[in-house]
Amino acid sequence: MIAATYTQGSGFKIEDIPSPELNGGGALLAIRAASICGTDVKIVRNGHRKLRAGQRIVLGHELMGEIVEAGKCARASGFAVGQRVGVAPNTGCGRCPACQSGRSNYCESYEAFGITRDGSHAELLRVPDVYLQQGNVMPLPDSVSDREATLLEPLSCVVNGLRASKADVGDRVVIYGPGTMGLLFLQVARLCGASQIIMVGRRDDRLQAALNAGADVAINNAVEPAASRIDEATLGEGADVVIIACASPEPQLEATEILAPFGRLCLFGSLPRGSAPPPFDTNAAHYKNLLITGTTGGSVGDYRAALRLAASGRIRLESIIGAEFPITKLQSAYDAALSDTVTGKIVLVR
Ligand SMILES: [Zn+2]
Ligand SMILES: [Zn+2]
Repeated sequence: MIAATYTQGSGFKIEDIPSPELNGGGALLAIRAASICGTDVKIVRNGHRKLRAGQRIVLGHELMGEIVEAGKCARASGFAVGQRVGVAPNTGCGRCPACQSGRSNYCESYEAFGITRDGSHAELLRVPDVYLQQGNVMPLPDSVSDREATLLEPLSCVVNGLRASKADVGDRVVIYGPGTMGLLFLQVARLCGASQIIMVGRRDDRLQAALNAGADVAINNAVEPAASRIDEATLGEGADVVIIACASPEPQLEATEILAPFGRLCLFGSLPRGSAPPPFDTNAAHYKNLLITGTTGGSVGDYRAALRLAASGRIRLESIIGAEFPITKLQSAYDAALSDTVTGKIVLVR
């Protein structure tokens, strides 16, 4: 089968590899749709700390598929051939405090598709038993399309980020980074009852997408300083929640300036490994009683919440999709992702 692979040390490749086999355990999925994540692009560029030298993996962790073969555990869990399922991509050890509090995305020894296990950028995916045992495999209702279901994982990360930010009714929310994650934050913040949403970014096409999705104000901080515009837009009161959905240090610093007293900052986007930590204004946090948090990934519970949101129709996942490629055209899809030319999510379909 055709697959997009990454080998630690020798890099990215589109290649023909043997199809995975079940050998009695797990479930075999025919990938019907998958999407390319910033994390896939990061791995292609920089590798991943979890990979050993010479280790090869199939990339991709945002996926849905149809069960084409069900092992014993899958059948015992009520799954059958022909069923459409979504899969939360991370599993944990099951024994540590993070796992036991239902947050396997913070497990020290987590495993994930497209990082430590073969992922979804291929025609077939083997889902090991541990995914069935930890509840990661979920049947999809007809109201969630194949394309939409690939976005449940990124949506689960946004659910995690907004829960940690304690987003509340009436909040003024500022989001830095109008990429796909930023646009998902915008939609969920609206559902949380935000009274005003301000999007800050450096590309006019993406800022326009944010305005189309319901942002009240869009600021291009490559052209004008964001802080003074935010001050003006919030009538001098500042923001209640700031979400950093981009990978640059300047917005992190600016956030402490624009937050109102009791404001909350979510450092959702990480900085490139090895970059110097920004000189954080700790006095701003002290005098304004700020809450500073950061999140990574989403738990299985967050994925389930994302599925409920998508099924309810209250989140419009289709609006996030920017381009579609057949899964056989993996090279073209990755070319588009690596050159960052598409506004919106790149989705692969069978
Ligand atoms: Zn992702
Ligand atoms: Zn664990």
